[in-house]
Amino acid sequence: MTMQATPKEPFTAAELIALEDEYGAQNYHPLDVVISRGQGIWVWDVDGNKYMDCLSAYSAVNQGHCHPKIVDALIAQARKLTLTSRAFRNDQLGLFYKEVCALTNSHMVLPMNSGAEAVETVIKAVRKWGYANKGVPPNKAEIIVASNNFHGRTITIVGFSSEEQYQSGFGPFTPGFRMIPFGDPEALEAAFNENTVAVLFEPIQGEGGIIIPPAGYLPRMRQLCDEHRAVLVLDEIQTGLGRTGKFFAEEHEGIVADITLIGKALSGGVYPISAVLSNKEVLGVFKPGDHGSTYGGNPLACAVARVALRVLVEEGMVDNAARLGPYFMEQLRSIGSPHVKEVRGRGLMIGVELHPDAGGARRFCEALMKRGILCKETHEHIIRFAPPLVITKDEVDWALEQIGPVLSMA
Ligand SMILES: *Cc1c(COP(=O)(O)O)cnc(C)c1O
Repeated sequence: MTMQATPKEPFTAAELIALEDEYGAQNYHPLDVVISRGQGIWVWDVDGNKYMDCLSAYSAVNQGHCHPKIVDALIAQARKLTLTSRAFRNDQLGLFYKEVCALTNSHMVLPMNSGAEAVETVIKAVRKWGYANKGVPPNKAEIIVASNNFHGRTITIVGFSSEEQYQSGFGPFTPGFRMIPFGDPEALEAAFNENTVAVLFEPIQGEGGIIIPPAGYLPRMRQLCDEHRAVLVLDEIQTGLGRTGKFFAEEHEGIVADITLIGKALSGGVYPISAVLSNKEVLGVFKPGDHGSTYGGNPLACAVARVALRVLVEEGMVDNAARLGPYFMEQLRSIGSPHVKEVRGRGLMIGVELHPDAGGARRFCEALMKRGILCKETHEHIIRFAPPLVITKDEVDWALEQIGPVLSMA
């Protein structure tokens, strides 16, 4: 009998990177750090180096990596029941609905898996609502969206992106979207017509570069939607669940959307789940068979999300973001780097915009990685700092000690 050579483990970082590059589609350009473990705000690479995670998986890990209570919920539920499909009911779904509605003052929920699916779901819902309730002629529904938006990567969604690369080579696209500049109230007012069924916006543009609209813009949007009987949909997949120092970013503007989309941190980074939160009028248009997803609303996702929501509140993570975000920003400004054009953000959603001649944000992210901080450039010239919301003031101070010299480098 011949023995098969056993594959040697552990693999080195270089070997693992080579495997990804050999077999994987190249649709990302990751930093070359191979992470094998995470706890709270910290992650470790395969060589045992420790890093502070200042991206939080694009704000999916607001509760910190491997939050013990969320992981316990995952394991316990995984041993009991994971998937029934919605052909049958399960004992977690109703409880998830009730708890998420109580926390967000919503009346109806539709659970999906990814953020993009929540966006696709709401597009279907507001279109059907418009035909049934507003008398929009068949196939004429329009949805107003912002330039520089990010709502995901499906064909319909990239079809209303203003980002050249997101669209290039992927057409033809879904019609029915009207794009206007973000933050311009006059353009918004002019975009409505009798076929407008909804406005779909991020309250703060995340992937677009942490762009905060001018004061009064979202309240004006609320008012125009009411006047024109259009549904106000806010995509809070990134801004929601405490990231900006409020449970939802809309609270900074004193408005309430008709529909709110959540995803990402809804499971604390443990399991994919997203949801459309709505009043009964809009989601009420769906009849059995109109929409669905095999994994949407599965008991594993629901059990995880219930605990992920609970720890956000119980452990004061939203308040922590409200407290430490302004401090972090103020200290970043006080570094006084000549490369920095602006530091902006809300809560722990922070963008540092560099001058065009700073040589791009990527080299700063690479230098930060060498000093134990992981973050990702967005839009060439912007460094985003979005650590898990469990970060402490001492840890922010440690981060600033690393960031200072990097921002000041030649
Ligand atoms: C990440 C994101 C999405 C898409 O979520 P996926 O889970 O990646 O599909 C949609 N909208 C916003 C604002 C996001 O940040």
